[in-house]
Amino acid sequence: VISLVDMNKWYGDFHVLKNINLNVQRGERIVICGPSGSGKSTMIRCINQLEEHQTGSILVNGQELTSNTKALERVRKDVGMCFQHFNLFPHMTILENLILAPIWVRKMPRKAAIELAMNYLERVNIAEQSEKYPGQLSGGQQQRVAIARSLCMAPKVMLFDEPTSALDPEMIKEVLDVMEELANDGMTMLCVTHEMGFAKSVADRVIFMDGGEIVEENEPDAFFNNPQMDRTQLFLSQIL
Ligand code: ATP
Ligand code: MG
Repeated sequence: VISLVDMNKWYGDFHVLKNINLNVQRGERIVICGPSGSGKSTMIRCINQLEEHQTGSILVNGQELTSNTKALERVRKDVGMCFQHFNLFPHMTILENLILAPIWVRKMPRKAAIELAMNYLERVNIAEQSEKYPGQLSGGQQQRVAIARSLCMAPKVMLFDEPTSALDPEMIKEVLDVMEELANDGMTMLCVTHEMGFAKSVADRVIFMDGGEIVEENEPDAFFNNPQMDRTQLFLSQIL
């Protein structure tokens, strides 16, 4: 579904992503980890073109990402994204947040959009909060709303960038549970996370980045129990 081929990105003189090669198959769950500043967020943001890359190519559903706006729109519809900060609209209710894009981007009738939204709110166990405003919900609840909002656009791939790192410990699990359910439903997922328990139980592959490069990638068992590279060993010794 996604492939990055010899992709490079610079911020001015700073070479932030170096020869990234990555293939993600339909239904695959990938966890990306690595030290702060290693380029994880930048790579994720390149995949839905919140950031531009300079050389190499990125393909989503066989479509190459260029600055062509038509292609960009199509890709954005297929790729859902969840950030550390939930980016819900504070002046709109939960339900209004969810139906906005289906109505305006997918041109869905309001009634159908509401039905769809309530469906996803139920799936993330939060339907009873639909008339509240984001500020009235806990962080974990807001993040589940953000996930439901992405799902309303029927994405083929979900990108997560540290979705639980702004949450209090007791709320992390409820968000990870929702992500795990999504994975079990067969969603293709790329998750930047330091939740290694999640990586072990959900990921098909773990990717370790450092200094703008993919240093190592493997199945979770091999990755955690038998890391090959010094940099991976050092990183794991610091976080486990
Ligand atoms: P973290 O775990 O802290 O989120 P990360 O792996 O997601 O880190 P990135 O946010 O991708 O790291 O940043 C990679 C590098 O690029 C860092 O050195 C950062 O300072 C730099 N960087 C990020 N955004 C910009 C920008 N807009 N302009 C210049 N440099 C940037
Ligand atoms: Mg980051």
